[in-house]
Amino acid sequence: MNTPETPLNRRPRKRRKLRAVAALSALFLAVCAGIVGLVWSGSWWWLLLPAVTAAVTHRFLYRPGAVPVFTFHSVSDAPDWLPWAPDISLGSDLFARMLQTLADTGCRVVPTRELVACRREGRPLPARSVVLHFDDGYLDNWVAALPYLKRHGMPATLFVSLDFIDPGAELRPSLDTEDPSDARPLQWDGYLNRAELAAMEATGLIDVQSHGTDHGRVAVGPRVVGELTAANWRNLAWLQWAAVPGNKSRWYLEQEPAAVPLGSPVPENLPSLTARRWLDGRRESEQEYRDRVSAEFQRCRRELGEMLGKPVDLFCWPQNHTTPRARELALQAGFAATTGGWFENRPGEDPSLISRIHVGKDVLGLPCTAADAFYFRAQVAVGLGNYYWYPALMLCQATRSMVRLATKLLQRG
Ligand SMILES: [Zn+2]
Repeated sequence: MNTPETPLNRRPRKRRKLRAVAALSALFLAVCAGIVGLVWSGSWWWLLLPAVTAAVTHRFLYRPGAVPVFTFHSVSDAPDWLPWAPDISLGSDLFARMLQTLADTGCRVVPTRELVACRREGRPLPARSVVLHFDDGYLDNWVAALPYLKRHGMPATLFVSLDFIDPGAELRPSLDTEDPSDARPLQWDGYLNRAELAAMEATGLIDVQSHGTDHGRVAVGPRVVGELTAANWRNLAWLQWAAVPGNKSRWYLEQEPAAVPLGSPVPENLPSLTARRWLDGRRESEQEYRDRVSAEFQRCRRELGEMLGKPVDLFCWPQNHTTPRARELALQAGFAATTGGWFENRPGEDPSLISRIHVGKDVLGLPCTAADAFYFRAQVAVGLGNYYWYPALMLCQATRSMVRLATKLLQRG
């Protein structure tokens, strides 16, 4: 029987939201009752009801001291090469607006290691501190994200997977390229190479850290959950990645699956670092799992550390999926902190656990940069502990659900 490990508990985030919704509902009802009472009786005493409720609920709705860690992936004006672009790629205009929002709202962007160090020492960070992360090491982080970060002097941590570092050795042009003799067009597709990683580190703003080796998933049982087709093989690229050892940074240039042919079964699967894999008709033993995953962590620290000439001690879980056991192995391998939490990065929390907030687009279910920028504004407020902004997030989420439902119905009709 294959029982997957329990992933890290999401309950803290759900509980926070529930508490805020309960407090906001109580406040809303008290305001309504106060107004009705005033109109009905003509007595101003009725306004005491919302005033007292506001005083009581405020401590549930405004709790400064949280440090939001915002997770970006791709920042691109031509992201179509990436099958999962709709979920993780932001246009450069939107990204610029988001950074401007951070600047306009008085946020102080700090490096991840400052967050980890402060929490280890039990020191609070300055008010309105936020952290920026970029996952996967896409070339567009060099082309577009870095130039905007430089304009604001904002630091960020970049998490790269070893097998996806491009083998090229030249810096490619970016929005910052000023050399008039450089006539090369901007390249939006692909992954960062060593030279670009080194150049980003050299700015003093970017801290490159580990996102594992192959961003892989593994079969975790004999059950088949689908079939590889011409329409889905790019979205299921992990099957190809798992079958081809070595560098995978140019996988998307293949016109057809390189290793696992169309028509092959897709097994039930989970992220490779968090599950015991199913191989040759049997499930990996606990010890085999531990040895495999520990070796991968060691390889990440060693090879990325040698490449960058610095210690690599932060780990970001591919697909933001982790388990208590996988985290224990990462910390044993020497990582000081990993991602994967569902808390708020407050001083009293486990300093080795970083909780993050995904930044996306099309929050209304359709392209609208103004709505996306507004949604991010609300994410910043809630992330900093101002839960009065929850209704803004929920309104957008509800609109998105309705738009998706309407789109589905229209397509069926
Ligand atoms: Zn990733």
